[in-house]
Amino acid sequence: MNELECRQFVEQVTAYLERALTPAEEQAFVDHLTECDGCERYLDQVRQTARALDALPTDALSPESRTALLNTFRDRPS
Ligand SMILES: [Zn+2]
Repeated sequence: MNELECRQFVEQVTAYLERALTPAEEQAFVDHLTECDGCERYLDQVRQTARALDALPTDALSPESRTALLNTFRDRPS
């Protein structure tokens, strides 16, 4: 496992889910997924959290707390 790649992966997770990566970045992201179980699980967790947030009524969570929650994933050390 390459620690630098994992760090980059964590930084790009949100952009990936928002489809904001360039094709080259997305390719590197997906490549890393296939060779790193830890990041695959991590992406799964982020996806589930994002889905749970989306399922909430829009007024149940302020945009600020939603962002803060997502940031706890983004800032998690690899
Ligand atoms: Zn990784």
